[in-house]
Amino acid sequence: MQHVSLNDGHTMPQLGFGVWQVPDDQARGAVETALEAGYRSIDTARIYDNETGVGRAVAASGIDRDDLFVTTKLWNGDQGYDATLKAFDASLERLGLDHVDLYLIHWPLPARDLYVDTWRAMERIRSEGRARSIGVSNFTRSTLDRLVAETEVVPVLNQIELHPYLNQADMRRADAEHGVLTEAWSPLGQGKGLLEDPVLTSLGAKHGKSAAQVVLRWHLQLGNVVIPKSVTPSRIRENIDVFDFELDAEDVDAISALDRGGRIGPDPDTFD
Ligand code: NAD
Repeated sequence: MQHVSLNDGHTMPQLGFGVWQVPDDQARGAVETALEAGYRSIDTARIYDNETGVGRAVAASGIDRDDLFVTTKLWNGDQGYDATLKAFDASLERLGLDHVDLYLIHWPLPARDLYVDTWRAMERIRSEGRARSIGVSNFTRSTLDRLVAETEVVPVLNQIELHPYLNQADMRRADAEHGVLTEAWSPLGQGKGLLEDPVLTSLGAKHGKSAAQVVLRWHLQLGNVVIPKSVTPSRIRENIDVFDFELDAEDVDAISALDRGGRIGPDPDTFD
């Protein structure tokens, strides 16, 4: 597993396991399968309603806590200084942990204008050591610029929708200008459609890999952190088996050229 360095001195695995839409009673089994396959980073959120299952899998794994990287996220209704502190306590409790490795603001919600106050609470949580690192999700150039200008701690990463049909070249540049890593959500474009793209299937044939593995390799070579999701054990294993081949520069460019600029998920400027 490759690790990446964060701007606060910590490191994290470049590839992790996402658990959006995994029901709480299946999360434990899915995360156990992922940990057995070699994943050491898990991405959950308050709104996924599966922090309890994730925490149980972590506890049952017997893996040293320092070798695991657990991310969770603050949900929209909990923004604001006091509400953030309270919501964080509740997430830790559900996870059964004394700290998380990364705590993220899930969406900026610019119309509500609470993300700066929210971030100050995140800074406090970080200073208490209860989140080792803090970051953001779905931040745009303007919301990230303002957060960095008005607060002390620069987010370690920005988790955004990013896949070959939405390669986010501009936002990746904006993140990099601030020393913020870009983490890709829906890195496989949620599977359907994208993974049948002839460019990806032919690159899969060229490298003896699946289209999903080619897409994940593209992310890694761009420097993105990725968190693919699956509940199917063979796919969970397939998605981490991407460290034994390399795309050529022209392969990377061909995948980047698939960009259509269309989102699967909501627009962060208007999502509330
Ligand atoms: P994804 O791009 O990881 O796609 C997952 C889907 O792709 C699976 O449900 C399955 O249908 C298919 N798939 C997975 N592996 C495959 C394989 N090897 N071959 C063929 N098909 C395969 O989509 P996602 O779950 O939306 O995103 C990943 C993670 O990102 C989530 O679980 C969550 O942790 C995070 N996320 C964050 C946000 C946010 O707002 N911050 C939003 C969405 C997702």
